[in-house]
Amino acid sequence: MSENLVTIFFERQRGFEKKPALIWQGNPVCTFGELPAMVGRYRAALRQLGVKRGDRVMVKTENSPAFVFTYLAILASGAMFVPLNAAYTAAEVQALVEDAEPVLIIHAAATALPADDGSIARMTLEPDGGGALSSLAATLAPDFSVEEMAATDLAAILFTSGTTGRPKGAMLMHQNLSSNVAALYETWQFSDADSILHALPLFHAHGLFVALHLGLYSAATVTMLPKFDPAAVIALLPASTVFMGVPTFYSRLLAHDGFTTATVASIRLFVSGSAPLLPSVFASFEQRTGHRILERYGMTETVMITSNPYAPEGRIPGTVGYPLPGVSLRVIGGEALGILPAGEIGDIEMKGPNLCAGYWRRPEATAEAFRADGYFATGDTGVQDAGGRLTITGRSKDLIISGGFNIYPAELEILFAEIAGVADVAIMGVPHPDFGEAVVAVVIADSPDFDPATVTQVAQERLARFKQPKAVHVLAEFPRNAMGKVLKSELRQRFAASFSKA
Ligand code: AMP
Repeated sequence: MSENLVTIFFERQRGFEKKPALIWQGNPVCTFGELPAMVGRYRAALRQLGVKRGDRVMVKTENSPAFVFTYLAILASGAMFVPLNAAYTAAEVQALVEDAEPVLIIHAAATALPADDGSIARMTLEPDGGGALSSLAATLAPDFSVEEMAATDLAAILFTSGTTGRPKGAMLMHQNLSSNVAALYETWQFSDADSILHALPLFHAHGLFVALHLGLYSAATVTMLPKFDPAAVIALLPASTVFMGVPTFYSRLLAHDGFTTATVASIRLFVSGSAPLLPSVFASFEQRTGHRILERYGMTETVMITSNPYAPEGRIPGTVGYPLPGVSLRVIGGEALGILPAGEIGDIEMKGPNLCAGYWRRPEATAEAFRADGYFATGDTGVQDAGGRLTITGRSKDLIISGGFNIYPAELEILFAEIAGVADVAIMGVPHPDFGEAVVAVVIADSPDFDPATVTQVAQERLARFKQPKAVHVLAEFPRNAMGKVLKSELRQRFAASFSKA
């Protein structure tokens, strides 16, 4: 049997032909019965554009139903879906294009892209779902064929920034995505009675592989928003049963006066992930709504790894719960100590059907992250209790998570070190009440008249907004250890209170 995820979705949707699959701007866009034809038109368009099995198709646009049809059509073609963060600058995209070598770039007209040298086909797909690709699809008869795929064939490549500053493409197989959605469906007790309010970006694993996939797998209606907006979410929650978000979504909802018990009357499940949910936000949310947010843990390379239990009393703030069905976890104390017993903090490693095939064209990065026995080093540190419940204690990887998006300091350090007048630079994350963490740049300047605004300007020109420092400090020297390594922990402590609430 074909293991193409699209085949699996369409089979699961049988019997729900009359049910709306997607709602957009207040209107049903198509039913589950109409979905294969919608996807089929985009599949026909991709075929006409020459997309074949094994090709990469890059997509850089905002959420819309047409984005969903395009995604499913790429998978139906046997090609690989390569989504890009819509906020990436032309320079950031250029590096990824060279690495992924797509045959087609699907993009919003206004989005930042490298200059078009004509070597790679481009088609527009606008945030409202219009554009050249949708116009072409509308003229074509649906192509209902879905390429037969093996479980281990690749479905998508998602780029995550690396510790070296060079993004790495996680190669996700069809089985990674199908096994993970099945595990979440069971664990979170989904059914066709659900109605999902979707405000996460579709270019990220959380919005795509968790929120959207659960809708398609459960035959649950998905109400799609262009992006998170507290007022829009509050207006639509009464018609929904499930909402998923990054912690920032929850703190913003709590900051909104319109967010009341009445708003959440029909909700059965709030899920949080992609960054740590503060126990204080969990507590305020419970106090305001009576709901205990279910926190889960995952990453691009592994999709979802652990989840708090479905039973509300089992959801414990500050922990990320238990491994999902089929997933094995261990906590490692380095080569000398090996696997640690319950109660001891170490590096989190995992293995399971959700683990990606490695990094695209990066054998050395793959070898570094994958152990000989198949376990994957997550780069997160944590501790398991005697019953196996996991608490994340930090990150061994030098990663900042701001508003749910990842930023690797090395990428910014390399860029800012090139600025005239910058002798040295250190990038770190400090606590921020809204974003979780905020990027801070600390610069050692060549001369006393160095203007920190130059750093801000380069950041604005070259980096997606979420990566840009929220503060730039100039120091005479860095605190360093005996080996000369910059003591980021000291710098972080020094600037820790920069964004705390007054
Ligand atoms: P991404 O690949 O963008 O999904 O980011 C994955 C990283 O986000 C993980 O390796 C963790 O560092 C972090 N992360 C995801 N979920 C959680 C969570 N519930 N608590 C703490 N950190 C998390």
